[in-house]
Amino acid sequence: MRRYSFLHLAWQALRGNRGWRPAWRNAEPTSGYEVVIIGGGGHGLATAYYLAKNQGIRNVAVLERGAIGLGNSGRNTQVVRSNYFYPQSVAFFDHSLKLYEGLGRELNLNVMLSQRGVLNLAHSEHDMELQRRWCNAIRMSGVDSEWLTRDAIRALVPPLNLDGRFPVLGGFIQRRGGICRHDAVVWGYARAASSLGVDIVQSCEVTGFKFANGKVRAVATSRGIIGADKVVMSVAGYSSELARLAGIELPITTMALQAMVTEPVRPVLNTMVISGLVHAYVSQSDRGEIVIGGGADAYPSYAQRGGLPQMRDVVRAVVELFPSFSRLKMLRQWAGRVDITPDTSPIMGVTPIDGLFINCGWGTGGFKAIPAGGHTMAHTIATGTPHPLIESFGLDRFRTGALIDEGAAAGVAH
Ligand SMILES: Cc1cc2nc3c(=O)[nH]c(=O)nc-3n(C[C@H](O)[C@H](O)[C@H](O)COP(=O)(O)OP(=O)(O)OC[C@H]3O[C@@H](n4cnc5c(N)ncnc54)[C@H](O)[C@@H]3O)c2cc1C
Repeated sequence: MRRYSFLHLAWQALRGNRGWRPAWRNAEPTSGYEVVIIGGGGHGLATAYYLAKNQGIRNVAVLERGAIGLGNSGRNTQVVRSNYFYPQSVAFFDHSLKLYEGLGRELNLNVMLSQRGVLNLAHSEHDMELQRRWCNAIRMSGVDSEWLTRDAIRALVPPLNLDGRFPVLGGFIQRRGGICRHDAVVWGYARAASSLGVDIVQSCEVTGFKFANGKVRAVATSRGIIGADKVVMSVAGYSSELARLAGIELPITTMALQAMVTEPVRPVLNTMVISGLVHAYVSQSDRGEIVIGGGADAYPSYAQRGGLPQMRDVVRAVVELFPSFSRLKMLRQWAGRVDITPDTSPIMGVTPIDGLFINCGWGTGGFKAIPAGGHTMAHTIATGTPHPLIESFGLDRFRTGALIDEGAAAGVAH
């Protein structure tokens, strides 16, 4: 892999940027691999990278039906944080945040991590009680979380209307949380995995599985049969359809989740603000756009576009909290299909079929999990045993009932 550096950048600039080479190989599929990963989103690519780097397994292919990173990994609002409620979730997501903190150096690509803080607003006494409990739970799991008074919030977020229809009484912040450039994360993992020998195969849709003696042997694709000792399904909103081809029914509901950005303005917002009550969140991008997100559309859908009612509700809520934003023009709106589980926690690990693994159920919040998802799945695939950090997130919990209900912490808070 050619290392990027300031000198290299300057050299290319002097040459009119004509000397750049593709960052990864767009490989042709071979007849078989040790591991086939279905889905070229952040999770699939990170899994491939950690398989090659940490587990020494390089005979790996990532099969992507379109182009890498055009699924949810390239459509999200880039929020990274580890302020979940249950200890298992905090441990997993904080592992991810720590990996994010060193990711630019690890991948030799600037992933533009900006730890500007993630602030949750409390709008009622009831909200205050619940959020204090949430804030304390995070601290008891050993992760940073800080209660803020109304005055501290006023100073931190000047354009926020604290006295409107939804008065702000307090809130809590995770200062290590923030945003990170989604495309750079995808490209960084793709580039690093490719340089370690992983084949990234684009325009290759998996259409079926081949089994023998209860074990996975190959996948059928739009580009022929590809043999595999182990197969990983890492396809987010497509998970229930794909798993059904392997005879597995998943407890996943697919829904459209939308986001939007306004025209760019000068810096006005130096943190990421979330209101669970009005079900919306905002941040300001490096380009100056106000990035707006909210809850998923109210009904299951495989469409990759959001409905107008949800967009209207989210915008109405944001304008209520930030009245000055009502004067901004909306620039773009888009959506992704997200894979939501009954307890809003992910599904990671083994499946009832020998050699077939699964990574899905990220719903509205799996971008922040990409490094840890890839890292722990690579361990699980190589050893056949779930990594300790994901033991609680197995598919089996829907049989045993040991759910990890993160609805409140994963819901709108992405
Ligand atoms: C609008 C929006 C905002 C969000 N905001 C945040 C946020 O702020 N923070 C956060 O943490 N998370 C957020 N998320 C969620 C996050 O983006 C996802 O959970 C995460 O990107 C999932 O990554 P992935 O690699 O599992 O899936 P994806 O990136 O969706 O990749 C799956 C890939 O599988 C491919 N595929 C599907 N079927 C097949 C097949 N049969 N054969 C081959 N390939 C196939 C798809 O083409 C796709 O590229 C948001 C999501 C959306 C839509």
